Amino acid sequence: MIELPELLLTLSSVLSRGDEARWGLRCGELANRLAAAPRTHWPALAKDGLRWFAGSGSLSDLVLYPAGRLDAGLNNEFSRLAAQLHTALTETLQYRPPSDTAGTYRALHAELDHLRTEINWAERGRRRPTYHISLRLAQAIPQEYQQLCPDYLLAQCPLCGAPVRERIDTLSLAGMGWWRWPADGSGWMGRYFGSNGRAIEQLAGDEPTLHSYRAGCAHVQGVMYGVNLQGVLPDDVPREHSLPLGSAVPHLHRPFMALPDSRAVLRTLPIGRLDRPGRAYYLVWLVSYFHPKAGALASTLAPQDPLHRFFLWPYADADYELAPWLASGQALWLDAAGQLRDHGPVLSGWRGNWVRERGDFYRLPDGEDSLQQVQRYLAQWQRVQRDSACGLADYPLQRLAEDV
Ligand SMILES: [Zn+2]
Repeated sequence: MIELPELLLTLSSVLSRGDEARWGLRCGELANRLAAAPRTHWPALAKDGLRWFAGSGSLSDLVLYPAGRLDAGLNNEFSRLAAQLHTALTETLQYRPPSDTAGTYRALHAELDHLRTEINWAERGRRRPTYHISLRLAQAIPQEYQQLCPDYLLAQCPLCGAPVRERIDTLSLAGMGWWRWPADGSGWMGRYFGSNGRAIEQLAGDEPTLHSYRAGCAHVQGVMYGVNLQGVLPDDVPREHSLPLGSAVPHLHRPFMALPDSRAVLRTLPIGRLDRPGRAYYLVWLVSYFHPKAGALASTLAPQDPLHRFFLWPYADADYELAPWLASGQALWLDAAGQLRDHGPVLSGWRGNWVRERGDFYRLPDGEDSLQQVQRYLAQWQRVQRDSACGLADYPLQRLAEDV
Protein backbone atom coordinates (compact mmCIF):
# COMPACT_ATOMS: atom_id res chain seq x y z
CA MET A 1 0.00 0.00 0.00
CA ILE A 2 1.51 3.33 -1.12
CA GLU A 3 1.24 6.06 1.50
CA LEU A 4 -0.96 9.01 0.61
CA PRO A 5 1.78 11.70 0.57
CA GLU A 6 3.93 9.53 -1.72
CA LEU A 7 1.01 8.94 -4.04
CA LEU A 8 0.22 12.63 -4.19
CA LEU A 9 3.84 13.47 -5.03
CA THR A 10 3.76 11.00 -7.93
CA LEU A 11 0.46 12.46 -9.06
CA SER A 12 1.93 15.93 -8.72
CA SER A 13 4.75 15.14 -11.13
CA VAL A 14 2.31 13.63 -13.63
CA LEU A 15 -0.06 16.59 -13.45
CA SER A 16 2.78 19.12 -13.66
CA ARG A 17 3.71 17.70 -17.07
CA GLY A 18 0.15 18.25 -18.33
CA ASP A 19 -1.60 21.45 -19.29
CA GLU A 20 -3.10 21.75 -15.79
CA ALA A 21 0.15 22.39 -13.96
CA ARG A 22 -1.66 24.10 -11.10
CA TRP A 23 -3.25 20.76 -10.13
CA GLY A 24 0.25 19.38 -9.87
CA LEU A 25 1.27 22.21 -7.63
CA ARG A 26 -1.71 21.65 -5.35
CA CYS A 27 -1.07 17.94 -5.16
CA GLY A 28 2.52 18.64 -4.13
CA GLU A 29 1.40 21.13 -1.48
CA LEU A 30 -1.07 18.67 -0.04
CA ALA A 31 1.57 15.93 0.02
CA ASN A 32 3.92 18.17 2.01
CA ARG A 33 1.18 19.18 4.45
CA LEU A 34 0.27 15.54 5.07
CA ALA A 35 3.89 14.52 5.56
CA ALA A 36 4.38 17.24 8.21
CA ALA A 37 1.14 16.56 10.09
CA PRO A 38 0.22 13.83 12.58
CA ARG A 39 -2.12 11.23 11.16
CA THR A 40 -4.97 12.49 13.28
CA HIS A 41 -5.02 15.58 11.05
CA TRP A 42 -4.93 13.72 7.76
CA PRO A 43 -8.71 13.50 7.36
CA ALA A 44 -9.07 17.28 7.81
CA LEU A 45 -6.20 17.96 5.40
CA ALA A 46 -7.52 15.47 2.88
CA LYS A 47 -10.94 17.15 3.01
CA ASP A 48 -9.32 20.51 2.36
CA GLY A 49 -7.35 18.92 -0.45
CA LEU A 50 -10.55 17.71 -2.05
CA ARG A 51 -11.99 21.20 -1.94
CA TRP A 52 -8.89 22.56 -3.69
CA PHE A 53 -9.01 19.98 -6.42
CA ALA A 54 -12.63 19.48 -7.13
CA GLY A 55 -14.42 22.43 -5.61
CA SER A 56 -17.22 20.16 -4.50
CA GLY A 57 -15.15 18.17 -2.01
CA SER A 58 -16.29 14.88 -3.53
CA LEU A 59 -13.92 12.02 -4.23
CA SER A 60 -15.35 11.12 -7.62
CA ASP A 61 -15.05 14.72 -8.80
CA LEU A 62 -11.41 14.70 -7.81
CA VAL A 63 -10.76 11.60 -9.85
CA LEU A 64 -12.74 12.72 -12.90
CA TYR A 65 -12.09 16.44 -13.11
CA PRO A 66 -8.36 16.66 -13.88
CA ALA A 67 -8.53 13.52 -16.03
CA GLY A 68 -10.54 15.24 -18.74
CA ARG A 69 -8.05 18.08 -18.88
CA LEU A 70 -4.82 16.19 -19.31
CA ASP A 71 -2.86 15.51 -22.44
CA ALA A 72 -3.94 12.24 -24.00
CA GLY A 73 -0.46 10.81 -23.39
CA LEU A 74 -0.78 11.30 -19.65
CA ASN A 75 -4.33 10.08 -19.32
CA ASN A 76 -3.52 6.39 -18.83
CA GLU A 77 -0.90 7.13 -16.21
CA PHE A 78 -3.31 9.44 -14.44
CA SER A 79 -6.20 6.95 -14.48
CA ARG A 80 -4.02 4.34 -12.80
CA LEU A 81 -2.91 6.82 -10.12
CA ALA A 82 -6.42 8.18 -9.69
CA ALA A 83 -7.73 4.73 -8.78
CA GLN A 84 -4.99 4.32 -6.15
CA LEU A 85 -5.63 7.83 -4.88
CA HIS A 86 -9.32 7.06 -4.52
CA THR A 87 -8.51 4.08 -2.28
CA ALA A 88 -5.90 5.94 -0.22
CA LEU A 89 -8.12 8.97 0.30
CA THR A 90 -11.11 6.85 1.26
CA GLU A 91 -8.98 5.11 3.88
CA THR A 92 -7.65 8.43 5.17
CA LEU A 93 -11.09 9.94 5.47
CA GLN A 94 -12.20 6.92 7.50
CA TYR A 95 -9.12 7.02 9.71
CA ARG A 96 -9.71 6.79 13.46
CA PRO A 97 -7.13 8.09 15.97
CA PRO A 98 -4.91 5.46 17.60
CA SER A 99 -5.00 4.81 21.32
CA ASP A 100 -1.34 5.79 21.76
CA THR A 101 -1.97 8.94 23.81
CA ALA A 102 1.67 9.88 24.38
CA GLY A 103 2.53 9.46 20.69
CA THR A 104 -0.49 11.49 19.57
CA TYR A 105 0.34 14.14 22.16
CA ARG A 106 3.89 14.57 20.87
CA ALA A 107 2.69 14.60 17.25
CA LEU A 108 0.12 17.25 18.13
CA HIS A 109 2.87 19.46 19.56
CA ALA A 110 5.06 19.04 16.52
CA GLU A 111 2.13 19.99 14.31
CA LEU A 112 1.19 22.96 16.49
CA ASP A 113 4.74 24.32 16.46
CA HIS A 114 4.71 24.02 12.69
CA LEU A 115 1.40 25.89 12.55
CA ARG A 116 2.61 28.61 14.92
CA THR A 117 5.58 29.29 12.67
CA GLU A 118 3.37 29.34 9.63
CA ILE A 119 0.79 31.64 11.17
CA ASN A 120 3.52 33.98 12.46
CA TRP A 121 4.85 34.21 8.91
CA ALA A 122 1.43 34.85 7.49
CA GLU A 123 0.76 37.54 10.08
CA ARG A 124 3.92 39.33 9.00
CA GLY A 125 2.37 39.79 5.61
CA ARG A 126 3.95 36.82 3.86
CA ARG A 127 0.69 35.03 3.25
CA ARG A 128 1.04 31.56 1.89
CA PRO A 129 -1.77 29.45 0.46
CA THR A 130 -1.66 27.13 3.45
CA TYR A 131 -2.32 29.94 5.92
CA HIS A 132 -6.09 29.56 6.10
CA ILE A 133 -5.84 25.81 6.47
CA SER A 134 -3.25 26.22 9.22
CA LEU A 135 -5.54 28.58 11.05
CA ARG A 136 -8.48 26.20 10.79
CA LEU A 137 -6.35 23.35 12.11
CA ALA A 138 -4.99 25.46 14.96
CA GLN A 139 -8.55 26.27 15.95
CA ALA A 140 -9.50 22.60 15.86
CA ILE A 141 -6.54 21.50 17.97
CA PRO A 142 -7.74 22.60 21.44
CA GLN A 143 -10.67 20.16 21.32
CA GLU A 144 -8.45 17.31 20.15
CA TYR A 145 -5.83 18.29 22.71
CA GLN A 146 -8.36 18.44 25.51
CA GLN A 147 -9.48 14.91 24.74
CA LEU A 148 -5.88 13.74 25.31
CA CYS A 149 -5.75 15.41 28.75
CA PRO A 150 -6.78 13.14 31.62
CA ASP A 151 -9.98 14.02 33.45
CA TYR A 152 -9.51 14.82 37.17
CA LEU A 153 -11.69 15.23 40.21
CA LEU A 154 -10.55 18.61 41.58
CA ALA A 155 -12.85 18.80 44.56
CA GLN A 156 -16.02 17.61 46.18
CA CYS A 157 -18.25 20.48 47.25
CA PRO A 158 -17.92 20.68 51.08
CA LEU A 159 -21.50 22.05 51.17
CA CYS A 160 -23.30 19.38 49.15
CA GLY A 161 -20.77 16.77 47.99
CA ALA A 162 -21.07 17.49 44.24
CA PRO A 163 -17.91 16.93 42.19
CA VAL A 164 -15.79 19.55 40.39
CA ARG A 165 -13.88 18.10 37.45
CA GLU A 166 -11.63 19.26 34.65
CA ARG A 167 -9.42 17.75 31.96
CA ILE A 168 -5.86 18.90 32.74
CA ASP A 169 -2.65 18.40 30.80
CA THR A 170 -0.48 16.51 33.26
CA LEU A 171 1.55 14.91 30.44
CA SER A 172 3.83 17.95 30.29
CA LEU A 173 4.04 21.71 30.79
CA ALA A 174 4.60 22.10 27.05
CA GLY A 175 0.89 21.60 26.32
CA MET A 176 -1.05 24.51 24.90
CA GLY A 177 -3.31 24.62 27.95
CA TRP A 178 -0.36 25.94 29.94
CA TRP A 179 0.39 28.82 27.55
CA ARG A 180 -2.76 30.68 28.26
CA TRP A 181 -3.14 33.93 30.12
CA PRO A 182 -2.01 33.72 33.80
CA ALA A 183 -4.43 31.78 36.02
CA ASP A 184 -7.42 33.94 36.88
CA GLY A 185 -9.71 31.66 38.87
CA SER A 186 -11.67 30.44 35.83
CA GLY A 187 -10.18 26.94 35.89
CA TRP A 188 -7.10 25.39 34.34
CA MET A 189 -7.89 25.92 30.66
CA GLY A 190 -9.76 29.08 31.65
CA ARG A 191 -12.00 31.25 29.56
CA TYR A 192 -9.68 31.87 26.67
CA PHE A 193 -7.09 30.25 24.55
CA GLY A 194 -4.21 32.30 23.23
CA SER A 195 -3.44 35.98 23.48
CA ASN A 196 -6.21 36.92 21.05
CA GLY A 197 -8.84 35.93 23.62
CA ARG A 198 -10.46 33.43 21.30
CA ALA A 199 -12.90 31.22 23.21
CA ILE A 200 -11.78 27.63 22.96
CA GLU A 201 -14.89 25.69 23.67
CA GLN A 202 -18.35 25.85 25.04
CA LEU A 203 -19.07 23.19 27.57
CA ALA A 204 -22.34 21.23 27.77
CA GLY A 205 -25.49 23.20 26.97
CA ASP A 206 -26.01 26.23 24.79
CA GLU A 207 -24.90 28.83 27.31
CA PRO A 208 -21.29 29.93 26.76
CA THR A 209 -19.34 29.19 29.93
CA LEU A 210 -16.87 31.54 31.51
CA HIS A 211 -14.83 28.78 33.08
CA SER A 212 -13.29 25.52 31.98
CA TYR A 213 -14.05 23.32 35.00
CA ARG A 214 -17.22 21.25 35.17
CA ALA A 215 -19.18 21.99 38.31
CA GLY A 216 -21.68 19.54 39.78
CA CYS A 217 -23.41 22.30 41.77
CA ALA A 218 -23.81 26.07 41.83
CA HIS A 219 -21.71 26.45 45.01
CA VAL A 220 -18.37 26.37 43.20
CA GLN A 221 -17.27 29.91 42.41
CA GLY A 222 -13.82 29.52 40.90
CA VAL A 223 -10.74 27.33 40.47
CA MET A 224 -7.26 28.86 40.84
CA TYR A 225 -3.92 27.11 40.37
CA GLY A 226 -0.14 27.45 40.38
CA VAL A 227 2.81 25.35 39.24
CA ASN A 228 5.62 24.06 41.45
CA LEU A 229 8.70 23.20 39.34
CA GLN A 230 10.26 21.23 42.23
CA GLY A 231 13.73 22.49 41.33
CA VAL A 232 13.71 21.26 37.72
CA LEU A 233 14.19 23.67 34.81
CA PRO A 234 11.25 23.18 32.41
CA ASP A 235 13.51 23.06 29.35
CA ASP A 236 11.22 20.61 27.56
CA VAL A 237 8.94 23.61 26.99
CA PRO A 238 10.03 25.50 23.85
CA ARG A 239 11.50 28.94 24.65
CA GLU A 240 8.96 30.71 22.46
CA HIS A 241 6.06 29.45 24.58
CA SER A 242 4.77 31.71 27.29
CA LEU A 243 4.56 29.69 30.49
CA PRO A 244 2.54 31.41 33.23
CA LEU A 245 3.36 29.58 36.47
CA GLY A 246 1.77 31.70 39.17
CA SER A 247 2.86 30.87 42.70
CA ALA A 248 4.73 27.65 43.48
CA VAL A 249 3.12 27.67 46.92
CA PRO A 250 -0.65 27.20 47.33
CA HIS A 251 -2.56 30.20 48.64
CA LEU A 252 -6.10 31.17 49.52
CA HIS A 253 -7.83 34.42 48.57
CA ARG A 254 -8.00 36.06 52.01
CA PRO A 255 -11.03 38.38 51.50
CA PHE A 256 -13.12 35.44 50.26
CA MET A 257 -12.04 33.09 53.05
CA ALA A 258 -12.95 35.80 55.58
CA LEU A 259 -16.62 35.61 54.49
CA PRO A 260 -18.83 33.36 56.63
CA ASP A 261 -19.57 29.97 55.04
CA SER A 262 -16.65 30.13 52.59
CA ARG A 263 -14.96 26.83 51.78
CA ALA A 264 -11.90 25.88 49.76
CA VAL A 265 -10.69 22.48 48.55
CA LEU A 266 -7.06 22.02 47.50
CA ARG A 267 -5.42 19.25 45.58
CA THR A 268 -2.16 18.57 43.74
CA LEU A 269 -1.47 16.70 40.51
CA PRO A 270 1.93 15.47 39.27
CA ILE A 271 3.06 16.62 35.80
CA GLY A 272 5.44 14.86 33.41
CA ARG A 273 7.83 16.10 30.73
CA LEU A 274 7.46 16.02 26.97
CA ASP A 275 10.93 14.51 26.53
CA ARG A 276 10.76 11.93 29.35
CA PRO A 277 7.37 10.27 29.37
CA GLY A 278 6.28 8.02 32.20
CA ARG A 279 7.57 9.97 35.18
CA ALA A 280 6.39 13.08 37.04
CA TYR A 281 8.77 16.02 37.53
CA TYR A 282 6.51 18.98 38.28
CA LEU A 283 3.38 19.57 40.25
CA VAL A 284 0.30 21.74 39.90
CA TRP A 285 -1.77 22.73 42.92
CA LEU A 286 -5.38 23.73 42.44
CA VAL A 287 -7.88 25.32 44.79
CA SER A 288 -11.65 25.31 44.24
CA TYR A 289 -13.71 27.95 46.04
CA PHE A 290 -17.25 27.31 47.33
CA HIS A 291 -19.95 29.49 48.83
CA PRO A 292 -23.73 29.12 49.27
CA LYS A 293 -24.33 32.60 47.85
CA ALA A 294 -23.82 33.18 44.11
CA GLY A 295 -21.22 35.82 43.22
CA ALA A 296 -19.50 35.70 46.63
CA LEU A 297 -16.00 35.16 45.19
CA ALA A 298 -16.48 37.78 42.44
CA SER A 299 -17.54 40.34 45.07
CA THR A 300 -14.22 39.87 46.89
CA LEU A 301 -12.20 40.37 43.69
CA ALA A 302 -13.45 43.96 43.23
CA PRO A 303 -12.46 46.66 42.32
CA GLN A 304 -11.34 44.56 39.35
CA ASP A 305 -14.07 42.91 37.31
CA PRO A 306 -13.25 39.17 37.25
CA LEU A 307 -15.10 38.82 33.93
CA HIS A 308 -13.05 41.53 32.25
CA ARG A 309 -10.59 40.08 29.78
CA PHE A 310 -7.70 41.95 31.38
CA PHE A 311 -8.55 40.71 34.87
CA LEU A 312 -5.45 39.72 36.86
CA TRP A 313 -5.70 37.63 40.00
CA PRO A 314 -4.88 39.83 43.07
CA TYR A 315 -1.85 38.04 44.51
CA ALA A 316 -1.60 40.91 47.01
CA ASP A 317 -4.52 39.27 48.84
CA ALA A 318 -3.03 35.77 48.71
CA ASP A 319 -2.79 34.05 52.08
CA TYR A 320 0.02 31.50 51.97
CA GLU A 321 -0.54 30.40 55.58
CA LEU A 322 -3.02 27.57 55.12
CA ALA A 323 -2.80 26.10 58.63
CA PRO A 324 -5.44 28.33 60.33
CA TRP A 325 -7.94 27.70 57.50
CA LEU A 326 -7.31 23.95 57.64
CA ALA A 327 -7.68 24.00 61.43
CA SER A 328 -11.04 25.82 61.20
CA GLY A 329 -12.32 23.32 58.61
CA GLN A 330 -12.84 26.04 55.98
CA ALA A 331 -10.05 24.63 53.84
CA LEU A 332 -9.64 20.95 53.01
CA TRP A 333 -7.24 18.85 50.94
CA LEU A 334 -8.51 16.26 48.50
CA ASP A 335 -6.20 13.25 48.57
CA ALA A 336 -5.35 10.98 45.63
CA ALA A 337 -8.14 8.60 46.67
CA GLY A 338 -10.73 11.40 46.45
CA GLN A 339 -11.15 11.83 50.22
CA LEU A 340 -11.31 15.26 51.90
CA ARG A 341 -8.63 15.68 54.59
CA ASP A 342 -7.63 18.37 57.09
CA HIS A 343 -3.99 18.14 56.00
CA GLY A 344 -2.04 17.86 52.78
CA PRO A 345 1.39 18.27 51.19
CA VAL A 346 3.61 21.17 52.28
CA LEU A 347 5.13 22.83 49.22
CA SER A 348 8.07 25.21 49.06
CA GLY A 349 9.06 27.62 46.33
CA TRP A 350 8.42 31.13 45.14
CA ARG A 351 5.37 33.19 46.00
CA GLY A 352 3.57 35.68 43.78
CA ASN A 353 2.73 35.62 40.10
CA TRP A 354 5.58 34.14 38.07
CA VAL A 355 5.88 33.63 34.35
CA ARG A 356 8.55 32.20 32.05
CA GLU A 357 8.99 34.16 28.83
CA ARG A 358 11.64 33.37 26.21
CA GLY A 359 13.43 31.17 28.70
CA ASP A 360 13.65 33.79 31.49
CA PHE A 361 11.62 33.94 34.69
CA TYR A 362 9.80 37.07 35.82
CA ARG A 363 7.64 37.98 38.74
CA LEU A 364 4.64 40.01 37.65
CA PRO A 365 3.05 42.71 39.83
CA ASP A 366 0.82 41.39 42.60
CA GLY A 367 -2.28 42.82 40.93
CA GLU A 368 -3.72 44.90 43.75
CA ASP A 369 -4.19 47.74 41.27
CA SER A 370 -7.32 49.11 39.67
CA LEU A 371 -8.32 47.85 36.24
CA GLN A 372 -7.06 51.10 34.69
CA GLN A 373 -3.61 50.49 36.16
CA VAL A 374 -3.66 46.87 35.04
CA GLN A 375 -4.53 47.96 31.49
CA ARG A 376 -1.76 50.55 31.55
CA TYR A 377 0.92 48.10 32.47
CA LEU A 378 -0.38 45.46 30.08
CA ALA A 379 0.22 48.01 27.34
CA GLN A 380 3.86 48.05 28.49
CA TRP A 381 4.09 44.29 29.04
CA GLN A 382 7.71 43.98 27.90
CA ARG A 383 8.85 46.70 30.27
CA VAL A 384 6.87 45.24 33.17
CA GLN A 385 8.63 41.95 32.61
CA ARG A 386 12.04 43.58 32.47
CA ASP A 387 11.40 45.61 35.61
CA SER A 388 10.11 42.58 37.46
CA ALA A 389 13.04 40.27 36.68
CA CYS A 390 13.89 38.81 40.06
CA GLY A 391 16.31 36.03 39.32
CA LEU A 392 15.98 32.64 40.89
CA ALA A 393 18.67 32.86 43.57
CA ASP A 394 16.37 31.59 46.32
CA TYR A 395 14.90 28.70 44.33
CA PRO A 396 17.49 27.58 41.77
CA LEU A 397 16.33 25.28 38.98
CA GLN A 398 18.51 22.40 37.78
CA ARG A 399 18.80 21.09 34.26
CA LEU A 400 18.21 17.33 34.20
CA ALA A 401 21.20 15.18 33.32
CA GLU A 402 21.15 13.98 29.69
CA ASP A 403 21.01 10.27 30.51
CA VAL A 404 18.42 10.35 33.30
ZN1 LIG B 1 -22.37 22.21 46.27
